[in-house]
Amino acid sequence: MHIALLPGDGIGPEVIAEARRVLEALALPGMVFEEAPVGGAAYKASGHPLPQATLDLAKRADAILFGAVGDPDCDALERHLRPEQAILGLRKELALFANLRPAKLFPELADASALRPEVASQIDMVIVRELNGDVYFGEKGMRTTAEGKREGYDIMSYNEDEVCRIARVGFETAMARGRKLCSVDKANVLETSQLWRDVVIETAKEFPEVELSHMYVDNAAMQLVRNPGQFDVIVTGNLFGDILSDQASMCAGSIGMLPSASLDSNQKGLYEPIHGSAPDIAGQGKANPLATILSAAMMLRYSLGQSEAADRIETAVARALAGGARSPDLGGTMNTREMGDAVLAAL
Ligand code: NAD
Repeated sequence: MHIALLPGDGIGPEVIAEARRVLEALALPGMVFEEAPVGGAAYKASGHPLPQATLDLAKRADAILFGAVGDPDCDALERHLRPEQAILGLRKELALFANLRPAKLFPELADASALRPEVASQIDMVIVRELNGDVYFGEKGMRTTAEGKREGYDIMSYNEDEVCRIARVGFETAMARGRKLCSVDKANVLETSQLWRDVVIETAKEFPEVELSHMYVDNAAMQLVRNPGQFDVIVTGNLFGDILSDQASMCAGSIGMLPSASLDSNQKGLYEPIHGSAPDIAGQGKANPLATILSAAMMLRYSLGQSEAADRIETAVARALAGGARSPDLGGTMNTREMGDAVLAAL
């Protein structure tokens, strides 16, 4: 269990330090950590946000635990040198095509949700988003029409192999949970979505135990706030997943609570909190480390085959919250280290 720790910028090192303490407390045999700079920190140290040595470590490791990148000092740099390019580079270089975002409301935090507590309390789902294709990666450009008007275009496309591999991740995720998969598309108007739906239906034959349904994306956005309890696993493309996963996560509470995984086809993954480097609170001990600690739990479950240890961490987080642990984003006064201490004590 060789883990690459990439703390990055802003609150990244603060939250990674707490996740590392929790992982070390599990005392799992064979777990080793190797740390490397990434983002603005790497640019300042060596002139590039994703140095070759960091990329090599990420490729060598069994899993990557990532903090956050983004540094206001680097805002004036050329785009390819900005800290945020590091995460895009890692996704591309490691072929991390499947983004898993669980959205679950801890009952103690029902008041933190944008939804009414009785609706929010039903949320317990995983959104599986395709990460390497769709309209974000198609041909794009600006042109001038025959009438001399400016026109922007981005081509949306998916091939059947891309759909099949993300559909399988969706089905496998559902198999490990409530065995319900909802595929979200816009097949009533988009050819890309029609292929998506056809391939998902074909792939379903490999997973007869999973109950498959389909939903148009506009309806899915509405259902997520109307009746989020109906969803177990959602699988969708890059564009729809980008929007729906942010919507679902904020229905489930603070940004400081939500983990994510980005996986390749061998279950190797990069695990990170969904938040960024939060320069407004960096260095003040105000960062909530729970999203990163929960990302470490996902890493144990998905890439390292340690689901029992993952359960222990998630239970410890729930107990810490039940015991009153609250950082400022959750309406409390505990600092980052004290939040880590509360999880360790519960563990
Ligand atoms: P952000 O997520 O960093 O912060 C948004 C707000 O949430 C801020 O008010 C911040 O204080 C708060 N917040 C975030 N995480 C928190 C935590 N753990 N505990 C308590 N409060 C928390 O988003 P932003 O301000 O839009 O972006 C800041 C920088 O992060 C930018 O450079 C952006 O590009 C980068 N970013 C990086 C990633 C990534 O590394 N994957 C993701 C998003 C943004």
